[in-house]
Amino acid sequence: MAEAIIPKATAKRLPLYYRYLNFLANSGTTKVSSTELSEAVKVDSATIRRDFSYFGALGKRGYGYDVVDLLKFFKKILNQDRLTSVGLVGVGNLGHALLNYNFRQANNIRISAAFDLNPDLAGTIQSGVPVYPMTDMVKQLKEQQIEIVILTVPTDAAQGITDDLVAAGIKGIMNFTPLRISVPDYVRVQNVDLATELQTLIYFLEHYGPTLKDTENTTDTPVND
Ligand code: ATP
Repeated sequence: MAEAIIPKATAKRLPLYYRYLNFLANSGTTKVSSTELSEAVKVDSATIRRDFSYFGALGKRGYGYDVVDLLKFFKKILNQDRLTSVGLVGVGNLGHALLNYNFRQANNIRISAAFDLNPDLAGTIQSGVPVYPMTDMVKQLKEQQIEIVILTVPTDAAQGITDDLVAAGIKGIMNFTPLRISVPDYVRVQNVDLATELQTLIYFLEHYGPTLKDTENTTDTPVND
């Protein structure tokens, strides 16, 4: 099947679908309806049908979707059939937590190299991941052909390190710092600002209460906001 250009909001939901389909497949379920999927992933079934329609006729009326077929398809589209090596810069509290997190179990992602300025950390192995000094960062990223990096350094160090990452040929940065880092067009940044996310949750709870329907799932918001 040819890979169509899909809306970013759809792309953002793919991992949700993928995770649930994996769960179904592991429990021996062979087919699933869009209504069941909808209840499990909390996305309305019309959106699910529309999302799936971007990939071609995957569902059959009155039958639902074939779990194994869907899973095969999502694996391919999400690159889950190969292991993706990721780098991490800044082995502080958050960096450590991410090194400990088992991305691989469900997602075939592995943090294969970490970098830190602190001489006590550089040269050690943390949670099974080697930590290199910053002076080795560009060389290691190139040698290990790492194209994605998680950034968990202090804010004031973020832009300088980003420039070095770009020079090392990095294509994607998961930015955990509150700074909106500048990168060339061909580099993608995914911002994850935990403090702001929490603040947003508190704001919504205070202003709208706990039953506000999450409309974000059904709108075509950009991935990078
Ligand atoms: P957090 O909880 O945000 O991870 P923290 O309080 O443990 O942070 P920070 O001061 O935010 O520590 O630093 C995070 C990590 O980044 C530390 O391990 C620190 O040594 C490292 N670091 C600081 N500056 C740089 C830099 N310029 N280049 C690389 N690593 C750096």
